[in-house]
Amino acid sequence: MTIPKLAIVIPCYNESEALPITVARLIQLLDDMFNNGLVTNDSYILCCDDGSKDSTWKVIERLHMSDKRIKGISLAHNRGHQYALLAGLMCVKENCDAAVSIDADLQDDPQAICKMVKEFIYNDKEIVYGVRSSRKTDSWFKRNSAHAFYNLQRRLGLDTVFDHADYRLMSRRSLELLADYGECNLFLRGIIPQIGLDTAIIEYERKERIAGHTKYPIGEMVSLSIDGITSFSAKPIRLIFLLGLIFLILDISIAIYVLSAYFNDDTISGWTSLMLSVWFIGSIILMGIGIVGEYIGKIFMEVKHRPRYAVKDKLID
Ligand code: UDP
Ligand code: MG
Repeated sequence: MTIPKLAIVIPCYNESEALPITVARLIQLLDDMFNNGLVTNDSYILCCDDGSKDSTWKVIERLHMSDKRIKGISLAHNRGHQYALLAGLMCVKENCDAAVSIDADLQDDPQAICKMVKEFIYNDKEIVYGVRSSRKTDSWFKRNSAHAFYNLQRRLGLDTVFDHADYRLMSRRSLELLADYGECNLFLRGIIPQIGLDTAIIEYERKERIAGHTKYPIGEMVSLSIDGITSFSAKPIRLIFLLGLIFLILDISIAIYVLSAYFNDDTISGWTSLMLSVWFIGSIILMGIGIVGEYIGKIFMEVKHRPRYAVKDKLID
């Protein structure tokens, strides 16, 4: 049983309003957890400024001056939530026993961090996922589109944790394993379940944003969802081949119909050959694209240079 040095990583983009409130709340939480023997007294917060256009970095500097447990890094330009989060996690990986990632707007109940740390200390869990017990504060559209997305991911054979959105604890070892994933199209919620290790789930109530407004407009959400599917599965490519096959089967029944119309003299000249060739060529082209796509899919997966396995323990001396 080890009391962890905890790092809380907050990706921030234009969060000058929310950040002081969030950080004060988290510092209070770290103090309480230290008093309850859950974290060491040098546990800290790392704010990762994702190229904000407002005074977020100034706020982080001011917070750092007031308490050295509040640290910060600043990205040279806005790269998006996933990249800011990864930058933060990679920054703390050598200087903590466990890291918790949380958004800057306190939508995720910070009290769940205590439960996550307890899972880490007492049950040796290396990755603890925060899962929303309800999505009451989300709009009807966001709730339903999110569930449709999780279901689609499951159907495509991906490991997904339902209703989990980057609020999680990761042990130092899991952070080191995460560092081996060198891909550019980042979807952490897809990568982290692939790491393996012992995991647990903690439920919490999702709240409204405390200040500021969402940085995930619909366009960003769609783009993240597309990354979340295409970065992990080549199955959509197989659908093209399947479609070609369905066309080929349809082609046979259409050929029977067209030829019977031809032999019954029920056609105008040229129609039979045109119909036969359009359907036949269409299905062959679709299947061809599907086959080429299958190879491109393989190349796509190879160029990611993902680790092929992860070693959990070593006893080799
Ligand atoms: N964020 C970021 N870079 C971006 C967009 C968002 O670091 O380009 C951060 C943002 O400051 C917040 C977290 O990612 O801490 C989640 O964003 P938000 O709360 O706006 O998303 P929502 O909860 O509305 O989905
Ligand atoms: Mg939010």
